[in-house]
Amino acid sequence: MHDLKNWGILLEDIPPEGLKVEFENISDLEKDFNIKKPFSGYFKLKKLGIEVKVEGFLKGVITLKCDRCLTSYDFPIEHTFKLDIKPRASLNIEEEKELSEEDMEVSFYENSWISFYELLKEEILLSLPYKKLCKPDCKGLCPICGTNLNEAECKCKVHKKESPFAILKDLLSNKNLEKGG
Ligand SMILES: [Zn+2]
Ligand SMILES: [Zn+2]
Repeated sequence: MHDLKNWGILLEDIPPEGLKVEFENISDLEKDFNIKKPFSGYFKLKKLGIEVKVEGFLKGVITLKCDRCLTSYDFPIEHTFKLDIKPRASLNIEEEKELSEEDMEVSFYENSWISFYELLKEEILLSLPYKKLCKPDCKGLCPICGTNLNEAECKCKVHKKESPFAILKDLLSNKNLEKGG
């Protein structure tokens, strides 16, 4: 597997009883991902006419950048998936729309070539969080001075209004003040 781009199988080479492909130590998936711990797992392929049913599992660790504070952090992935791979040419745009509406996991192959490389990249992408956070309560950066508010406080005070919890806290402390006064 020196050239991952050639890693795959031709549709006609999938035996009728199906095929299990195991992989390990894959770390050269271009620059799309910052891989901390190489990926391992398996694909199970079963041919059904011109479609291929895939079940698979993958495991590894990638480094992500937090959306709020821009710090890099490790994101472990353990992802089980099922999908149908269909020939791209068999679909017209109308059908493609329907598929996405049904929210089925579908992938496509071209020229009878099932690329394991593309499959792996696709599934890693699908297992990434929509919002990348180093921790659920990351405080982010101060929009004024740029201080990482997880590490230090600054004097700007503007950021406090951003979080509903901060507002609630303000309300509560005001209440306490009223009570006290
Ligand atoms: Zn963060
Ligand atoms: Zn600040």
